[in-house]
Amino acid sequence: MLLDTRAMRHLTAEDWRVLTAVEMASKNHELVPTTLIERIARLKGGTSGVHKSISALAKVGLIARMKEAKYDGYRLSYGGLDYLALHTHSARNHIYSVGTRIGVGKESDIMIVADDKGTQKVLKIHRLGRISFRTVKTNRDYLKKNQSASWMYLSRLAAIKEYAFMQALREEGFPVPEPIAQSRHTIVMTLIDAPPMRQISSVPDPASLYAELIALILRLAKHGLIHGDFNEFNILIREDTNNKDDPDAIITLTPILIDFPQMVSMDHQNAEMYFDRDVQCIKRFFERRFHFMSTTPGPFFKDAKKTVGRGGVRRLDAAVEASGFTKKMAKDLEAAIREQQAKAKDGNADGSDGLEDDSDGEEEEDEEEEEGSENEDGDDGHQVIGGLALVESEEGLQKLTINEGT
Ligand code: ADP
Ligand code: MG
Repeated sequence: MLLDTRAMRHLTAEDWRVLTAVEMASKNHELVPTTLIERIARLKGGTSGVHKSISALAKVGLIARMKEAKYDGYRLSYGGLDYLALHTHSARNHIYSVGTRIGVGKESDIMIVADDKGTQKVLKIHRLGRISFRTVKTNRDYLKKNQSASWMYLSRLAAIKEYAFMQALREEGFPVPEPIAQSRHTIVMTLIDAPPMRQISSVPDPASLYAELIALILRLAKHGLIHGDFNEFNILIREDTNNKDDPDAIITLTPILIDFPQMVSMDHQNAEMYFDRDVQCIKRFFERRFHFMSTTPGPFFKDAKKTVGRGGVRRLDAAVEASGFTKKMAKDLEAAIREQQAKAKDGNADGSDGLEDDSDGEEEEDEEEEEGSENEDGDDGHQVIGGLALVESEEGLQKLTINEGT
């Protein structure tokens, strides 16, 4: 799904008010009737002002008109929610302009953004339980089956969870991006100028990088956590040198961990499976890519389990729960992530894109940019470490002009 901010500058203060009203009412109305929008928005211009804003918003696809048996009403689109989140980030001076997209997943879009000083950052937009307005019937069934599992709620949960974990990990000194802000289904974080390990074809000393990654898994475990998706896409490799003008300078590689919506506690009922999967993922990658095999077996879950909280180490699984991410929220999110992953798998098996609820033509184009795990050993886009990996240039930044006036 493309984030197009061009319509943003044309929205008036009233339009924003009406959009916010639709968002508020959507929390307990699948379809928001016009009368309710009018009541919440309470514009000076009266109902005609509301109607004008409704048409303006519908025209650019931020809300969509739906017909129901009993009444007609409006629904917020993903684009509408994107705009509201951007509006908030912009009002808080976290985002001034939006640049190009650097990552597309089934569950998120990753954009380069910048603040008003030109500092580049990353905006991650979570997209769970995507539904399309074109397949109304499917959507209704989907919503009936999953009353509380609406896309808005689930995507927001993913953002809240990811932000909370990034914050907790950062506080404990883990190598993760710095979380800057969270609004609705989005988070803003620092841009890490380092390529994912997936793009690296060789490293001077695979054994030490491997050891460092295993140490990272064990350190997480000690704090009560399992990443749950510890793979070559979610580990960025930063290259530091003690003297960049000296070709013989010592180069150190630092792994930086990203992507936390699926993190689980070491107490989770399937903890051992998740732990082993993370370990195996690294082992397999190092064998295939760097032809490196560790002579030490493990690490094993049962040993890691004994270290949880040892020596007074802060348990981050508990800390995040205490921050307001409740067990119920965790359960809802986990179910949604599992469902989405299963769908993606089915999709790959039958050659479709796994988004059968989503007949939006635009989406299908997006999928092509995605790096599939099936061509894991292809040498496309590999980058030999030693040359600096530039994630994004400053070109193509789209300025966010939000019209607060009139
Ligand atoms: P997803 O849930 O879709 O996998 P990720 O958080 O893993 O989303 O991000 C997808 C890709 O975007 C990553 O593989 C990485 O290349 C890039 N990326 C994400 N966050 C950052 C960041 N803070 N700095 C640099 N690149 C990032
Ligand atoms: Mg990822």
